Amino acid sequence: MKSAPFEYTRAASLGEACESLGRHGDAAKLLAGGQSLVAMMAMRLVRPAWLVDINEIESLKSIALEQSEARIGACVRQVTIERDDALAARVPLLRQALAWVGHAQTRNRGTVGGSLAHADPCAELPLAAQVLGARMQLRSAGGMRTVAASEFFAGPMATALRADECLEESRWPIWPERRVGSAFTELSIRHGDFAIVAAAAQVALDGDGRCTRAVFGLGGAGGTPLAFPKLAAGLVGSALKDDLILETAKRAAAESEPGSDLHASAEYRRHLAGVLLKRVIQSAYEEARAR
Ligand SMILES: Cc1cc2nc3c(=O)[nH]c(=O)nc-3n(C[C@H](O)[C@H](O)[C@H](O)COP(=O)(O)OP(=O)(O)OC[C@H]3O[C@@H](n4cnc5c(N)ncnc54)[C@H](O)[C@@H]3O)c2cc1C
Repeated sequence: MKSAPFEYTRAASLGEACESLGRHGDAAKLLAGGQSLVAMMAMRLVRPAWLVDINEIESLKSIALEQSEARIGACVRQVTIERDDALAARVPLLRQALAWVGHAQTRNRGTVGGSLAHADPCAELPLAAQVLGARMQLRSAGGMRTVAASEFFAGPMATALRADECLEESRWPIWPERRVGSAFTELSIRHGDFAIVAAAAQVALDGDGRCTRAVFGLGGAGGTPLAFPKLAAGLVGSALKDDLILETAKRAAAESEPGSDLHASAEYRRHLAGVLLKRVIQSAYEEARAR
């Protein structure tokens, strides 16, 4: 199929993009890497009357490493993040997550902001954002606001973005602890497909090997990527023994709300959630212990 007819405009600045969104409202869509949007338009799942291309906006392409967070412009390509060693040293989960995203060709075009705004509940970057507690900077002609990942992801393919807003950048916490480990894994039918279930974790340890901070979460196990802050807090102060990790992973899986589809039943997804979570918490712990 071919997309329905649409008008195209290339924004030279973020102000111009916001002005177009403000003028056209729901009738407009931003075009970033086009790796999700163009396919959805071709299948006529979306029919924007206006496409506002944001690929030429230089201010959306910067990466800034500050003391406590990494600020990633919305139009930074996924491949750029994947290859950035300084960023990988400070927010390792990003590179680990990207290893599972699509293919080299899709990562060459696909942007970080596009993946976050698309908000597929099985997608890897939204899961990493939810687990780490990233914050989204949203811009409209009327001003700027910052929204935590926990509020940004509102449902399957739904976010807190209003029709007149552009995601300007995402801000990723940098953990200052010396002994930090993180891990990401997933099961998909073929490599490069969206996950049936994905799991991510990051832990920090003190000098005696006790957990001082932990975060973990699941993709594909609910309408949004899921994090489990209360269960993760239960790991703090403990040596992360196998039985504690297993019990925590099982409880998180029991709290998840996966659906059934052609690929997997809800029951299978919940089982997988427990297995994969145990693996990532254990791997993150072992990595931190080796530091
Ligand atoms: C073969 C194939 C396999 C793939 N596999 C995976 C996978 O395994 N995991 C995965 O996560 N993704 C996968 N993808 C999707 C890919 O990661 C996309 O790059 C991503 O979902 C969207 O990013 P984009 O820059 O291409 O955005 P676009 O397709 O241009 O836009 C996607 C949506 O986000 C909106 N948008 C984009 N930028 C902004 C912004 N700055 N502010 C507000 N709204 C914005 C658009 O209006 C649109 O609604 C795959 C894609 C393909 C083609």
